[in-house]
Amino acid sequence: MSSIEIRNVTKSYGALQVLHGIDLNIVDEEFVVLVGPSGCGKSTLLRMIAGLEEISGGDVLIDGDRINDVSPQKRDLAMVFQSYALYPHMTVAENMGFSLSLSGAKKPQIQKEVGEAAKILHLEDYLERLPKNLSGGQRQRVAMGRAIVRDPKAFLFDEPLSNLDAKLRTHMRAEIRQLHQTLNATSVYVTHDQIEAMTLADRIVVMNAGRIEQVGSPIELFDTPMTKFVAGFIGAPT
Ligand code: ADP
Ligand code: MG
Repeated sequence: MSSIEIRNVTKSYGALQVLHGIDLNIVDEEFVVLVGPSGCGKSTLLRMIAGLEEISGGDVLIDGDRINDVSPQKRDLAMVFQSYALYPHMTVAENMGFSLSLSGAKKPQIQKEVGEAAKILHLEDYLERLPKNLSGGQRQRVAMGRAIVRDPKAFLFDEPLSNLDAKLRTHMRAEIRQLHQTLNATSVYVTHDQIEAMTLADRIVVMNAGRIEQVGSPIELFDTPMTKFVAGFIGAPT
């Protein structure tokens, strides 16, 4: 796994500046949650780390190497979206192995990697099913499985639980936390949900209107919010 360094990163869409000089160091094996209201720039920042969005200013480094101009495929990061991003015509096993097959892996190796990920995610009995025949939680596990098989340098999550119902969301939160403890994977997790941030994060980054308001452990933010915004946002019920 890997460290991710964000140095004075800015983003503009035409005349609209949506990120204003973001500085953040994510250390190896850390679980960092970016939290803030809708439109504050969380997804944009995550997509810039992933290479899916051009960086307007500043630098992104992985393990000390500047990767601004490295293509998404070569960054060796895995993005986990909401579960509806599965390929509907592919089985669970095919969904999980697809990116490996694209990168030229041979069938036995794909089977091995998919088998190992399925074991971690409790999906062994579902490998031949189509996504439509899975529960919401199982689908979300497949979405995570697709990321795990690639053994990436880091996991990037963008609101992966937002279209699950409340009960399942709580359950999947615990699973993601457990997964992190199993894999010790550097993770950057975007959510607008304060509870999700508080339960998952080693460190929380509170964002507001394209800026970082405060970075700290869940307890630090809760006990000593440094701005009114942080106090209101972290303290507010969802
Ligand atoms: P969040 O994920 O925190 O909800 P986003 O990163 O998606 O926020 O968006 C941040 C801001 O950038 C918003 O004001 C949004 O409208 C704007 N934005 C995002 N993508 C684009 C785009 N492709 N073109 C123009 N504006 C965009
Ligand atoms: Mg978003």
